[in-house]
Amino acid sequence: MGKLGGFLQIERHGIPYRNASERAHDYREFLIERPTEELREQGARCMDCGVPFCHNGCPLGNLIPDWNDLVYRDRWRDAITQLHATNNFPELTGRLCPAPCEAACVLEIRENDAVTIKQIELAIVDRAWQEGWIEPRPPRADRETGQSVAVIGSGPAGMAAAQQLRRSGHRVTLYERDEAAGGLARFGVPDFKIEKAVVQRRVDQLVAEGVELRCGVEVGSGATGMTGAGGVAGTADVAGELGVAGERVSVAELKDKFDAIVIATGSRVPRDLPVPGRELDGVHFAMDYLYQRNRWVAQEFGPAPSVPAPPVPGSPEVDGVQITAAGRDVVVIGGGDTGADCVGNALREGARSIVQLELLPEPPAHRPDDRTPWPEWPLKYRLSYAMQEAQEEGVGEQDYSIATTSFSGDGDGRVAKLHIAQAESAPPFGAVAGTERELPAQLVLLAMGFVGPEQGLLDELGVEKDPRGNVKAVKPYTTSVDGVFAAGDARRGQSLIVWAINEGRQCARMVDRYLAGVRDRAGMPEDEALAGHADADEGPEGPPQHVTPGVPAG
Ligand SMILES: Cc1cc2nc3c(=O)[nH]c(=O)nc-3n(C[C@H](O)[C@H](O)[C@H](O)COP(=O)(O)OP(=O)(O)OC[C@H]3O[C@@H](n4cnc5c(N)ncnc54)[C@H](O)[C@@H]3O)c2cc1C
Ligand code: SF4
Repeated sequence: MGKLGGFLQIERHGIPYRNASERAHDYREFLIERPTEELREQGARCMDCGVPFCHNGCPLGNLIPDWNDLVYRDRWRDAITQLHATNNFPELTGRLCPAPCEAACVLEIRENDAVTIKQIELAIVDRAWQEGWIEPRPPRADRETGQSVAVIGSGPAGMAAAQQLRRSGHRVTLYERDEAAGGLARFGVPDFKIEKAVVQRRVDQLVAEGVELRCGVEVGSGATGMTGAGGVAGTADVAGELGVAGERVSVAELKDKFDAIVIATGSRVPRDLPVPGRELDGVHFAMDYLYQRNRWVAQEFGPAPSVPAPPVPGSPEVDGVQITAAGRDVVVIGGGDTGADCVGNALREGARSIVQLELLPEPPAHRPDDRTPWPEWPLKYRLSYAMQEAQEEGVGEQDYSIATTSFSGDGDGRVAKLHIAQAESAPPFGAVAGTERELPAQLVLLAMGFVGPEQGLLDELGVEKDPRGNVKAVKPYTTSVDGVFAAGDARRGQSLIVWAINEGRQCARMVDRYLAGVRDRAGMPEDEALAGHADADEGPEGPPQHVTPGVPAG
């Protein structure tokens, strides 16, 4: 364990950020790492609890007390071995995870006193990259199975599934319709939260391990089917708005060429706001704006994409319009992380004012023990990094319990005003009469969450869906179609990177078992073969049980 009684002697030091007024003017990451000695001290605070609630809090079941202790003992190389035992991409979670592990840490019973788990995780993996300890780990030649898997979508779920499957000896092709891999970690989350060279480094590792990466290739006919079966409502043509590259691979071709298919296409259909004036120019989905900003940053600072970026509707090349916040009054509708990332970008573009609106009431300042007691994730107020920046720059404002009733234009088809009112405090959060007011807005970004995955490909694959339109797992990660599996947001709905990585890993386990079954059954009479398959255990759901990789003593 860490230092005996360390938590009584050493104060928690949270993750430091660069000064808001400095970072708001560039696109570099805003996290700063603490010096090694300070991190070792923070690791010493861990009590190595008999029941480590942090394990349960972490969707990956990370072996947290083990690597806290290894850091305290200055055994960084062993610490990365432990970390990689449960997490393929700790540099993503170390930068981007909201850290449910810290909320569940036993020290968090005293609010804001948890071990700084996320910071230690990030320091371990960043040091491992610097020291050259992270290398490609292709399977040994005698482990090659000769079987092949197509993974559709290269977000954290698809990348984790591809890496696990390749390391198990299967041939893996990773299909990605965007011009570069990484999913939302590449084109949703801004560079100031994660620089894209960090994502690309892992993509390169995958390729060096033998994963065939096909960027700029969309699987399926491209029909989004957003209002189709599965009951998912949506109005925009997301595939069109996000920019689909020219090349396509049909579902039939995939089924013919591969022994198994993994759906990891994310949950990309945005929730719309069908109020009068929605059709005005200047009202956009948040993701369209974020994609454009991330592409712009990639163009300016790199890394270059694998294939040329597709022409983006809304860009000057396609229809003479660019979604820009520069010099404008910007209103972001939606108080979550996507909204915060819009605020951060709008600020860096030089918006005149930025207002972020939320329909729900403002959460309490402290953990409400009657509603979300420890070790649950506390529903409490958190000032986002972006709103902090915008407020310090004197252009940001955040408001809760606000219903948007309509948009009105400037007479030339462009949005000019938002009509809002105080919202009732309970569903359906209707507008309270007599509280109406207006806000100036030349750019409105809709960041109200996502209603589900694009339905077209799922229909073409013929998989069953749950009532929300997500891929239904009839057994964990296993769809209703033989040989087709699903992981990440496409299966569980829009969620977190840590869940996507976990799902990719667990899904790969199910695919591997399925393929082992196919190998075992080859040449068997059909009824015997089916019996063997039916006996396979159902696999894991939720945090996995781990076998410690055996860190040497000393
Ligand atoms: C703006 C924003 C910010 C976020 N910030 C955070 C954060 O800070 N921390 C956090 O933990 N989570 C965050 N999230 C959530 C997180 O990014 C997602 O939960 C996670 O990326 C889901 O991973 P995934 O692999 O399931 O899907 P995605 O990351 O959505 O990847 C799916 C991939 O599939 C590709 N694809 C789709 N259809 C096809 C097709 N037919 N053919 C080929 N390719 C296809 C897409 O282009 C995409 O690359 C954020 C989400 C958004 C929208
Ligand atoms: S719950 Fe907190 S103190 Fe206990 S083992 Fe986990 S990180 Fe350490």
